[in-house]
Amino acid sequence: MIDEHVPLARHTTIGTGGRARFFARPETLDELVDALRWARERGVAVEVVGLGSNLLVHDAGVDALVLRLAGELAAAHVDGETLVAGGGAANAVCLHRARAAGLGGFEFASAIPGSAGGGVRMNAGAYGREWRDVLVDAVVVDADGPRTLGPTELDLSYRHSGLRPGEVVAQVRFALESSSAEAVKATVAELLARRKATQPTNKRTFGSVFKNPSAELGAGRAIEACGLKGHRIGGAVVSPRHANFIENAGRATSADCLALMAEARRRVHERFGVELEHEVRFLGPLELPPL
Ligand SMILES: Cc1cc2nc3c(=O)[nH]c(=O)nc-3n(C[C@H](O)[C@H](O)[C@H](O)COP(=O)(O)OP(=O)(O)OC[C@H]3O[C@@H](n4cnc5c(N)ncnc54)[C@H](O)[C@@H]3O)c2cc1C
Repeated sequence: MIDEHVPLARHTTIGTGGRARFFARPETLDELVDALRWARERGVAVEVVGLGSNLLVHDAGVDALVLRLAGELAAAHVDGETLVAGGGAANAVCLHRARAAGLGGFEFASAIPGSAGGGVRMNAGAYGREWRDVLVDAVVVDADGPRTLGPTELDLSYRHSGLRPGEVVAQVRFALESSSAEAVKATVAELLARRKATQPTNKRTFGSVFKNPSAELGAGRAIEACGLKGHRIGGAVVSPRHANFIENAGRATSADCLALMAEARRRVHERFGVELEHEVRFLGPLELPPL
């Protein structure tokens, strides 16, 4: 079923942005392919939201069919030492299934509040591991139907994949290894404590704003060095905790976030001669001004 004019702010962790012109929640592969064909027949663009944890949506909304995977496309189960996750399955659910089956190797994702499919799109990672390290393959669907692609075909690198617009990750298989529920729990607790000590975990954010320009210069350190911690535009604030996060301090708009990003990018360029590349994904006609 295709709905119209659905607010997207509630589908993002930052809580900003306008409406989707069309919105659907396919629950099976067939429903997903039907939705993609519906869009192709009408010349409507397709966008996907996962858990919206790395998304900034234009305040005026998105002129597209926005898909959010549900039902079996958001479930996960274990098969031997393989974790089989729908593209829309929350990382927390995947981790829960792995832990219950005594499988380790996915703990690094405990602090990444996204989905299996969003993780493929972003090649998400933390603490020295990323999706491509554990990914066996992914079922990628477009209006022509599904294909199964491995990590090389997906072209995964630092916060990058080769997925094209309109391609939807419907299923992901992860290769995990034998562990114990207690060991997984202990590792997760340690990683979450580390995370809590350095990042604004109790605020509305969309995670890292910019990619790190290099191993030597983190985006957060560069922005902090420009004196921007706590800098506010409208309802958006550069996190006083970690400068590569923008917090929604109440009633922020996506335009406020974008203005703050532009200011940070301009100042870092002036001071370090480095062009920050945004990690957060834009939905709708959002653009940073040229430097
Ligand atoms: C507090 C916080 C901490 C974070 N920490 C980390 C971290 O340590 N490491 C890290 O890498 N990221 C981190 N993030 C960012 C974010 O959680 C990851 O990028 C995550 O993988 C995004 O998944 P998502 O489902 O929320 O995707 P969304 O934010 O919904 O979408 C991100 C992109 O993926 C695409 N997408 C989503 N689902 C699919 C799908 N099924 N098929 C095709 N494309 C899809 C979207 O179209 C969009 O382009 C953090 C975010 C927050 C809020």
